Amino acid sequence: MAKGILFVLSGPSGAGKGTALKKVFKKLDNLEYSVSATTRKPRKGEIEGKNYFFKTDEEFNSMLQNGELLEHVEKYGNRYGTVKSFIEEALNKGKDIILEIETVGAEKIKNMDFEQVRIFLTPSSIADLIYRLSARNTETEDWRAERLRLGKEELKCAYDYDYIVVNDDLHKAVEELVAIITAERCRVKRNLQKIKNILQE
Ligand code: 5GP
Repeated sequence: MAKGILFVLSGPSGAGKGTALKKVFKKLDNLEYSVSATTRKPRKGEIEGKNYFFKTDEEFNSMLQNGELLEHVEKYGNRYGTVKSFIEEALNKGKDIILEIETVGAEKIKNMDFEQVRIFLTPSSIADLIYRLSARNTETEDWRAERLRLGKEELKCAYDYDYIVVNDDLHKAVEELVAIITAERCRVKRNLQKIKNILQE
């Protein structure tokens, strides 16, 4: 069975990654969301094992020591890490998987021996990013300011991705994400067996 495709989605906090992805998942089959481990406390409505694996500092440390995390970063005073077994299982089952991670972790994964497709989701302007962050009432003013500063830094990383999607219109952004994933699935190199079957080779 062909291995799944690893998609990495980055973009500043407030770019709308979560909202866009929810809609992408409704439109596409055979796609999994990589559930990360974090020491951040759950926000209202977040579910253990669905949004994150919520860990204490000690638990996170032990995951690190056991080599269970593919990469990890510290951001906004919390730690986040990609769970290696989660990704490997999906890919080995032939499922495509999306890692929604920030740019530093994404850069670490880029340098690993994984074939991957890198997508950057961005707001259309810094003004839009400020608007989106201020519309979030889940964080304090200090957190929003820090996220804006880091968001501007992250935007500069966009050059280094395979695809860019500007989220000035959610419907269009979702269509573009679906189109990218679909096109990647149709690449000849990922469909050699199909061609052989057609040719009965
Ligand atoms: P939030 O606290 O808003 O859920 O996430 C904060 C940031 O951490 C987001 O940019 C998100 O993409 C990123 N993030 C979530 N999980 C991981 C992970 O496993 N690794 C890395 N490097 N970043 C992550």
